[in-house]
Amino acid sequence: MAALDVIAPRNYHREKVAGKWQKVGTELGMPGAVRPLMVGNWKMNLTPKQGVAHVINILSRCQGIIDVDFGFAPPYTGLDKLRDYLKPEFLSGQFNLGKNVLLVAQDIFFEKKGAFTGEISPGMLSDIGVDSVIIGHSDRRTNLGKYFQIGESVLKRMSPDHLAQDIERLKKIDGANPRLIEALSQITGESNRWLLDELAKHLAQELKDRSGESDDVIRKKVLATLGEGMDVILCCGENAEARAENLTFNVIDNQLTRALESVDAVTFRKKVALAYEPVWAIGEGKKPATINEIDDVHTFIRGLVEKLYGEEIAGSARLLYGGNVNGSNIGEIMNLPGVDGALVGGASLKTEDFSKIIRFGLPD
Ligand code: PEP
Repeated sequence: MAALDVIAPRNYHREKVAGKWQKVGTELGMPGAVRPLMVGNWKMNLTPKQGVAHVINILSRCQGIIDVDFGFAPPYTGLDKLRDYLKPEFLSGQFNLGKNVLLVAQDIFFEKKGAFTGEISPGMLSDIGVDSVIIGHSDRRTNLGKYFQIGESVLKRMSPDHLAQDIERLKKIDGANPRLIEALSQITGESNRWLLDELAKHLAQELKDRSGESDDVIRKKVLATLGEGMDVILCCGENAEARAENLTFNVIDNQLTRALESVDAVTFRKKVALAYEPVWAIGEGKKPATINEIDDVHTFIRGLVEKLYGEEIAGSARLLYGGNVNGSNIGEIMNLPGVDGALVGGASLKTEDFSKIIRFGLPD
């Protein structure tokens, strides 16, 4: 859809008309108006230097755009350097921009400090000046099993040879559980090998597909981020299986209700944006959800927010969509009454695309 077909206002209040939410356009700066939010999640791309060059190119194309908030989420290593280029003094002097350009982290750890090799604490991010943190991305909710070869380890651990070694080791340990030794001996016995094989394959697949951050871990990350005064972009979304089984709303209800368990209404209103990212629509080679699918799920999520926090907060809550958003489809997506922005992966690495996303509805 061309930019001229975009009818979505860039700033608006949301009102219920005959039981359905509508966007009602407002002037820039009206109290309580919703400002769309566009966030580029670079994932594991761009060195700090490349990141700065990329951002400068985008800022040049988006000079004077102060009616939309937009943010860049580089890998951890790029945050510090990028901060210097997103300082309000620099942005207003060079690009006629304001505090609407945000530094975003892709993840966080929930503990304050300690023996957590490779993790980054909330205090470390707020010290750099991170404004907002993406939490619960599907890469982290479900893909860790793939990255860390959890399925492969299970297959290895459950192979008859490995289990035979376990049996020998256990037999030498005083007080080892005799029932476990018996169970392992039986299941590794010749007649039961097929049982062991099938069980191992099943478990390996399950762990490969589902290992990742639990809702409880995500809830802790949300609280840790808010505790350091940063904003949260909380992701939710079903995988292809759940959609096929008509479980989309159940999955999202669970994910959001659990993650927001201890977040009060005032904090939610000021500090939290939600991003609906259907797992099956994310990444290269995938198709975005259809406009109707996005509309349905956003309507459901806004209803859930209303249940949790009341109608007024539901109307102003920022709900983003993510999953193959680009410069050509952003207009149509933003036309939806329930969508307040986008979380963008691949297209956020392309200057032209991400600039168009920020400029939705404006002439080129
Ligand atoms: C994402 O990873 O959050 C995402 C939406 O990716 P893409 O835009 O590439 O589908």
